[in-house]
This record gives sequence, structure tokens and C-alpha cells, in this order.
Amino acid sequence: MPAGYDPPQRRATRIAADDTPEDAVAQPPTLHVSQHPAVLHKLAILRDEETEPKKFREVVRELSWLLGYEALADARVRPLTIRTPIEEMEAAELGERIGLVPILRAGLGMVDAMLELMPTAQVWHLGLFRDERTLRPVEYYNKLPDSASVDLCLILDPMLATGGSATAAIEVLKKWGAVKPVRIKLVNLIAAPEGVEAVTSAHPDVEIHCAALDRQLNEKGYIMPGLGDAGDRQFGTGSSS
Ligand code: URA
Repeated sequence: MPAGYDPPQRRATRIAADDTPEDAVAQPPTLHVSQHPAVLHKLAILRDEETEPKKFREVVRELSWLLGYEALADARVRPLTIRTPIEEMEAAELGERIGLVPILRAGLGMVDAMLELMPTAQVWHLGLFRDERTLRPVEYYNKLPDSASVDLCLILDPMLATGGSATAAIEVLKKWGAVKPVRIKLVNLIAAPEGVEAVTSAHPDVEIHCAALDRQLNEKGYIMPGLGDAGDRQFGTGSSS
């Protein structure tokens, strides 16, 4: 191992073991970066340029499950009486009405895992493209229902890069009626500091759950080190650089 190399696993353990590591950067309280060893392990496979689309989709799904699990940690449950083979007992079931909002197209790969975790959730697809003149995201597809009868919206997008799509999606949801007490959370696989800053300054009420906070964006808006284009890598289109 090269001198000075600090593998993610060891770094995670070190950070977990030390409340104030010397290289810690202050993070907004709404940002949750998973430190789970299983997440770190799968993330390495996802990032590897040798990982083919089939495996890539599989790992997107597995990571989405793990991040969805973390994002649901504060969800409300309601009591449920069930009978085990031994006796009756008071159990619990998810008590939140949940809307999953995958951002087309890369967010599609995160939906199935989330539906496994929360089978009663609805899926509201949202399509956004970047207007090359204004550089602002423009909505081209919106499958939100008529009324905001929901408790929790989870926006699904593997990459939080500039934050343009994420803030646009949050604005769409808030205009539609997803305002307090409705909660909005972003679930991303990898986030860039620029995207986190854009979202937290415009929407400090929105929690962000991700598997990694990377270094920065490059001049083309790709996350470094990142994983390339999450849509291309899932669907086998184009080259990702
Ligand atoms: N979208 C991607 O798919 N990858 C990036 O690095 C940034 C945005």
C-alpha cells in the first residue's frame, strides 16, 4: 500500500473513532454521508471504470436499498396487531405515505430497490433537461398526482453535481404542495460539495442522504473522482468522461 494512502474503510473507522478528526470539514447538519462498510465496498465496485452496465445496475440497486434504509430511519410507524404462530402481538408498519421521485433518466435505476423497502410508495417520474441558453433545468415530464397527499418525498438521483436538477425538483415539489409538514429528502449515490452547497443554501429543510461526498466538479460538471455519467453507465450508452 502506498505511503500515506488512507483507504475509505480505514478512514471511515478513523472518523467514527474520533469525534474531531484534524482533516474534518464542517458539513451541514442536513447532509448524511453513509459510513457503512457495505456501502463503501459497493461504492468501490460502482466507481471502477471496468464495471460493466449489468453489474453497475445491480450495484446501483444494492446501494439504493442501503441508502433508502438509512433515509427511512426517522419514518413514523403505526401499531399493527398481528398473530405469530405462538401468540398475538403488537407489531408496527410504516405509517408514512411516501412518494418516490426519480429524476429521469439516471434515477430510474434506484426505484426498484426503494419499492422493495417501501412497497406502498407511489412513483412520480420527473424529467428535467438543462437549457443550454439559460443553463437552468427545464421540466419536460411530470407525473406528480393532482394533490400533494403525501408525508415524505424521496427525490432519487445517483449524482448530486451542480445541484441544478435537485433544486429544480425541490422547487417543483414545493410549488405542488410538498411543504411542511411534508418532508423532502434527496437520495444520491455520490454528491459534490458544490451541489450540497446549492441545495442546502436554497433549501435548508431538505435532508441529503448519500454514499459519498466527493472532492469537486470538473469543468464539464462531472464529479471528481465520481463514476462518470451515471445514466450512460447504467444503460450502456456513450462514453463517460
Ligand atoms: N451526472 C453524472 O451522471 N455524473 C456526474 O459526474 C455529474 C452529473
